[in-house]
Amino acid sequence: MDTPYSIGKLNLVTDAISRNKAVVAAGQTVSAGEVILSVPSLVTSLLPKWRGKRCDLCCRNIPTRACSRCKEASYCSANCQTRAWKAHHRRVCPLLSSGFHLSHAFMSQSAEEQANADLLLSLWGLASQTAEDESWDSEEPDMALQDLASDPIHCFKNLVLHPHARALPALPRSLLSSHPKFLNSAWSRFDCNNFVVHNISSLEPESGAYALGIFPLASRCFNHSCSPNAWSAFRLRAGQVWLEVRALENIPSEAEVAIPYLDPVLPFRERHLRLSQIYGFECSCKRCNLEKQLALPTLPPEGSVLLEAAVTEAVFASSEEWEMHRWGAEVLARLPASIRHEEFMKILSTRFESQVHDGPYAEAWLTGRALLALCLLMYPLNYPITGYYAAELAKACWNAYILTSEPIWISRAKGTLQFSRGILEVAGGEEELEAAAGLTTCQTLESLIAAEPLAYPDI
Ligand SMILES: [Zn+2]
Ligand SMILES: [Zn+2]
Ligand SMILES: [Zn+2]
Repeated sequence: MDTPYSIGKLNLVTDAISRNKAVVAAGQTVSAGEVILSVPSLVTSLLPKWRGKRCDLCCRNIPTRACSRCKEASYCSANCQTRAWKAHHRRVCPLLSSGFHLSHAFMSQSAEEQANADLLLSLWGLASQTAEDESWDSEEPDMALQDLASDPIHCFKNLVLHPHARALPALPRSLLSSHPKFLNSAWSRFDCNNFVVHNISSLEPESGAYALGIFPLASRCFNHSCSPNAWSAFRLRAGQVWLEVRALENIPSEAEVAIPYLDPVLPFRERHLRLSQIYGFECSCKRCNLEKQLALPTLPPEGSVLLEAAVTEAVFASSEEWEMHRWGAEVLARLPASIRHEEFMKILSTRFESQVHDGPYAEAWLTGRALLALCLLMYPLNYPITGYYAAELAKACWNAYILTSEPIWISRAKGTLQFSRGILEVAGGEEELEAAAGLTTCQTLESLIAAEPLAYPDI
């Protein structure tokens, strides 16, 4: 069963700074949590450490069968194998059969370069069925969003080029000589347009990455913001990887919809460097404009207790509640510059993860509150990672209650759960079968609390 393209509320309009921008159509509004765009991948390729551990086509299930010819592609089912064969593998298979993956040129590349080489091969396998190499020489004209949606290869050829010339990844020699135009043209659109497919339930965004994917329509539509009003979530369903762009807040009619191209927690300078190197632009979002005027972040001092208390107090209205002060970018200007140093988030999250599992829970509570306050400052409103951390903190509160029987831990668990659920319902929970974080954690804890006779000690 295919999920249909949904581009209903989006319009692509001309923009003074970038090529185009995606806006909410006139007369329409988007609500927080709404899926604005849902598109299947054109092709994906697993990162090397996941090869053989996830299906090469759907990325979801553990593979049970390998291609009998090349032994290099593995799938979870006959269905995935047949679909991959028809889509691109029948062309790529002979190239892999000659031992390309074992060649020195391929093996000596980084994990990302290897995945890029595989992605380029699959894209060639797919595109060469319909388009001659010569046709990759020319620029594709702009088309209406509807037409771009129905012709993903055309849409891919219509994407902006990488700002810098880069050498091609290692590829089979026969392909380099037979399809130079395709390879160079497609490669010049890689990196600045493709997506890193990841899950977020591991609480460490980088370790959650498992594949690279091409989603031309999403690349064509959305500009970047460091304080975005939407984000891209990856869903594994109907036998392929889908990209969903979800609204993080209510978006009014004709307002731009922007997503983060980078982890929004990266410091200002790092963001600017990467945005100009990979995407070739200077970010002028409202957060960058504010941070440009602030002192550069400094390394947080050893034992950052005072700093943590300052962040917690700046964001939360009282020491137990989750009600927030009016917070936002301007609060950043009042706090010490070291809270914007990426080391501060790392210190807090590392300590939180150890305390949340092993205690002491009283300290996990303080660290967790500071970490969540920092997330609210550094990430966009309703960003999923904030919801996951909150679910973890609620779990720690429940464990503390089991250990001590103190009713305060039940009320902390309940408040934290409510806070977590409020975010995760907007951001969208994780759909991976093995993920036990997020909304699943919330549900489990809610039923545990509901079954607990002391759940309402005040009544
Ligand atoms: Zn599969
Ligand atoms: Zn094969
Ligand atoms: Zn920015």
